[in-house]
Amino acid sequence: MQLNFSGLRALVTGAGKGIGRDTVKALHASGASVVAVSRTDADLVSLSKECPGIEAVCVDLGNWEATEQALGRVGAVDLLVNNAAVVLMQPFLEITKETFDRSFNVNLRSVVQVSQIVARGMIARGVPGSIVNISSMVAHVTYPNLITYSSTKSAMTMLTKAMAMELGPHKIRVNSVNPTVVLTAMGKKVTADPEFSRKMKERHPLRKFAEVEDVVNSILFLLSDRSASTTGSGIMVDGGYLAS
Ligand code: NDP
Repeated sequence: MQLNFSGLRALVTGAGKGIGRDTVKALHASGASVVAVSRTDADLVSLSKECPGIEAVCVDLGNWEATEQALGRVGAVDLLVNNAAVVLMQPFLEITKETFDRSFNVNLRSVVQVSQIVARGMIARGVPGSIVNISSMVAHVTYPNLITYSSTKSAMTMLTKAMAMELGPHKIRVNSVNPTVVLTAMGKKVTADPEFSRKMKERHPLRKFAEVEDVVNSILFLLSDRSASTTGSGIMVDGGYLAS
């Protein structure tokens, strides 16, 4: 499916590594102007070399004031991918205020903040838009040590629906993509135990984890007009895990 995003401006958070990085590359290759937002400047420098012309914004999205400063005047955005997240693993009885707050601030509160900035701009310009929130299959099923992380993703399910409900009349669609493990830095951390990883993979009907490309393809579909009547919804990229 060849998609053309020429004439549109996209903003991708968590653009420095993994899924966000490849999403920027795909959008850039499909003609979009891209604002790449991430936390580590070196990642943005190397990404800018790979994708000449992108705008790089270095900010910690867990910091509300810094995010307002960096993105408050970002200008016209037509497509938004809320992808930045952290996974801070702790068993339930050891969850701390710091990890809980950090997880919710980066994974969920920043989605509210960045989406507000972008959606206000879309409404002011009177243009349609598409927002894709990168969730996870752990919005629906969880594992030991992932309670805080999966809670952020589960909350994202309702946030996606609520945003779709309020922004729909402005022709702004909001959907999520819910992958299983993808072997990025984050995916490798979660599956570091080989026995856990093996058992988990076996439970997938397709007997495999997802590839970054599989996730990016679903993001691009939801950003594009090919999904014009889809909002408040989510695409599972889970190798059938939830069916098993
Ligand atoms: P990675 O850890 O590989 O990359 C995450 C990117 O987000 C990094 O560039 C990171 O920058 C950036 N980021 C993290 N925190 C912040 C912050 N506070 N401010 C700005 N940027 C930040 O993750 P993935 O690519 O694997 O994950 C992308 C999305 O996919 C996430 O939402 C994740 O929850 C979701 N997902 C991932 C799965 C997996 O198995 N990989 C499975 C299901 C969902 P830096 O490194 O500099 O902190």
